[in-house]
Amino acid sequence: MRFLQPVTGFGRAMGRTAAAMALDLGSGAARLGEVAIDAMNGQQRPPAVLRVQVIILSDENGIPLCSAAAVAPALETADRILQAGAGTRVRTVGIRTVSATPPRAALDPRANRGLMLDDLLGRTEFYRRHVGPIDAAVEPGMIAAPITVIVVRNIAGQTTGCSLGMSADWVITQSTLFDVDSEHTYDQTVLAHELGHALNLPHHRDRANLMFPESSPPGSMRGTSLTAWQRGVIQANRHLVPGRSGRTFDLG
Ligand SMILES: [Zn+2]
Repeated sequence: MRFLQPVTGFGRAMGRTAAAMALDLGSGAARLGEVAIDAMNGQQRPPAVLRVQVIILSDENGIPLCSAAAVAPALETADRILQAGAGTRVRTVGIRTVSATPPRAALDPRANRGLMLDDLLGRTEFYRRHVGPIDAAVEPGMIAAPITVIVVRNIAGQTTGCSLGMSADWVITQSTLFDVDSEHTYDQTVLAHELGHALNLPHHRDRANLMFPESSPPGSMRGTSLTAWQRGVIQANRHLVPGRSGRTFDLG
């Protein structure tokens, strides 16, 4: 029944997007209410937590595309950026290497619309298999679900990272971003930028902003700032585990 695959892929992606939107609206409304109560009580909310896991693919010879240690600085940078600009800590819940050989479309994926189309056609199945059981459209686990950063070999075109926004709990990043010896590709901002997309942030035209579309290491990298509006979008996102308020009725 191979011909049914695109249809089920499409339906699943649509269902996932609709459910993600509903959850973002719900958690956003609840979060705004909490922030308003905190403001009235003169309380400063402690940082929320974004859980992130990393999956490193291996090439056709079974050799991992990079080491876990190589990804660590970009995760620390993402933590610093989101803490300063969005009151959110990035907590790494795991870094795993997948030794199974990925299909070519997963190892050297297309970007943007190409990746979206491949997702609809079921060609991102390899990623989903290794991301974990967070795929069912209305699973309660979607709230506070981690975002998975998948390290791939080569993304088509000039792109080094890509996210499908709210419709996927995973983003892809090219392994050369993490190679500290390659000064023209080493870029710690891309991982944080893609997390921004996964948290619903669109691009921003200010070069100093994390969501500026382009970044050219080593001379012309994008900035790391976030606006108050972007902070609000991130804070309302379903992926975040809210910070404990310290109020007596807060059981979380
Ligand atoms: Zn982007």
